Amino acid sequence: MLARLAARHPRLTRVFIAALFLLMAAGILSGWQALLKAEEDQARARLQLEVNALAQQLETHFDLQLDSLHRLAKRWDLHSEDRALWTREVNYLLDDFNNFQAIEWLDTDFRMRWIEPLAGNEAVVGFSYSTDHPNYPFLLRARESGTPILSNSFVLQQGGPGLAYYVPLLRSTGHPQSFDGFLLGIFRVEVLLNDLLNTGARDALSVELHEYDRLLLQRRAPDTLDLPWRASAMISLGNNRTFSLHALPTERLMRKSTTELPLLILISGLLASLSLCYALWLALISSQRWLALSQSNRQLQHEMIRRQQTEQSLQRNQARLKLILDLSNYSHDALFIIGLEPQELVYLNRTCWFILGYSEEELRQIVAIAPQDIMPNLVEWSAELSKLAKSQSAAVFQQSLRTRDGQILPMEISVQHMSRYGRDYLICVGRNNSAQLRAAARLQALSTEDALTGLYNRRYFDEKLQREWRLLSRQSSPLGMLMLDVDHFKSFNDILGHQAGDDALQKFGTALKASLLREGDAVCRYGGEEFAVILPGADINQCARVAQHLHQTIAALKIDHPTSSHGHLTVSIGAASLVPSADQQPECLISLADKALYQAKSQGRNQTCLAD
Ligand code: GH3
Ligand code: MG
Ligand code: MG
Repeated sequence: MLARLAARHPRLTRVFIAALFLLMAAGILSGWQALLKAEEDQARARLQLEVNALAQQLETHFDLQLDSLHRLAKRWDLHSEDRALWTREVNYLLDDFNNFQAIEWLDTDFRMRWIEPLAGNEAVVGFSYSTDHPNYPFLLRARESGTPILSNSFVLQQGGPGLAYYVPLLRSTGHPQSFDGFLLGIFRVEVLLNDLLNTGARDALSVELHEYDRLLLQRRAPDTLDLPWRASAMISLGNNRTFSLHALPTERLMRKSTTELPLLILISGLLASLSLCYALWLALISSQRWLALSQSNRQLQHEMIRRQQTEQSLQRNQARLKLILDLSNYSHDALFIIGLEPQELVYLNRTCWFILGYSEEELRQIVAIAPQDIMPNLVEWSAELSKLAKSQSAAVFQQSLRTRDGQILPMEISVQHMSRYGRDYLICVGRNNSAQLRAAARLQALSTEDALTGLYNRRYFDEKLQREWRLLSRQSSPLGMLMLDVDHFKSFNDILGHQAGDDALQKFGTALKASLLREGDAVCRYGGEEFAVILPGADINQCARVAQHLHQTIAALKIDHPTSSHGHLTVSIGAASLVPSADQQPECLISLADKALYQAKSQGRNQTCLAD
């Protein structure tokens, strides 16, 4: 749960780990500081003990010397009684205590009267305290109180700081005892302190002797540390409480009082926190990986399901496609698909090769090697297909295919352009339309044919006349026309019956058609028992010749007419010829031919009249 949460919010988790590390590091650092402080306290206590002991020793040692000086002062009488003995005692004292610089006697005028030893103290021989001497007040106080006094420090006549202990001398002889000056013990401070420090293992100490707050003497060990703390003890020397002893910390002292424990704890603590945070970091990374893995697993599962569905759909589609292709094989229509660039026959159904009389393999080979064998005008068609592919449109083509046994099959092929997956295709559906073509041709013929005679009908006549008129007007060639009308046909019908009239008209049609030799000539049933012949390019003379020929043809039929003076059916013909011009209508040619026909009728029938 936590791992998932951490993996979902890696940024937040990283911040949390960093904060945790900082927190732990801060805790460890403060612990380390506390340990250092404890060690320092320990060192201070140790130093304090040391300085206390030193102060006590200094006091005791000093008191001993003062006591011996007191004892000597009590024997002052000896001085005048036995001078040699006195001197010996003084020297004993000097031998016992080497701290004395000198033992002296001041007389009542505070003048130096004698000094022991003399060597080294020559400078004070004959010395006398003046009133401005710093120790003068001490002398007065000691004399008045009759009790010994230790002076403050002062600069010795012999050089260096010193202390003077003034013991008032009283002569025991006489009453009251008479004051006889002072027994004076001179101490050299340096000697006093060194003597003290040289006893025991105290050379490692850094010590300062202060008078009030003023440094009087110091002895610094080379490894003295410059720390903001020291240990101090007040000293009382001969009832003088102005002195204090100070001990400074040294490296040796600190070494004795401190251990590597704080550092060890600091390093190991930091390492442990670092390890913990690193472990958390690794856990974060692994949980992120785990999350990514589980996500990719899920995606993989989705993908697999999707792929299975796709495969199933593909299988269904393949089965459907197979069914469609199978069914298309039994279609009457030939279906084939041409792939473009490169051009290839992608698919053809069974009908394609079946109607041509080949197997599928044979047809494919022919298409690959000699496609013109089955489609004679393939080159032209290919050009048209290319145009269609470019315009991406559809079209219907009428094509002829040659079967294996040489027959030509008319095919109506509808072609549709399609683009799929970046490639162009032409989908072609072909159908054998020979029956439709025949029917269409028949319909076309019927629309221009006269049902009774089999000749062209009036509609065809009008179209043909217009066409020839336009054509010949451009060529400036003549257009000839014959208008035929059967003579006395009403009475023929009336006498022989309508059917006989129809039969006669049929025979006329057949004969007239057969008698026209020139291509482009056309004979039409103009209406009832009237016929019109169009003769493109024929001038009036040629028209006359054709008319003459038609008279002979009709005569040769020998269709009996009961009331005709000729005994058989005859025709009257009006002939006309014009070079058509754009400003004239073809009707004027009809009109001319009509007039000529009327003339032929009126001149006795069975003849041809030519229009002017
Ligand atoms: P003319 O010599 O002046 O031309 O005399 P005619 O009798 O031929 O002329 P008319 O115009 O008076 O008569 C034409 C006749 O042709 C009338 C009609 O009975 C006949 N006729 C027209 N069409 C047909 C047809 O399709 N079948 C039959 N049987 N007779 C037709
Ligand atoms: Mg008529
Ligand atoms: Mg007639």
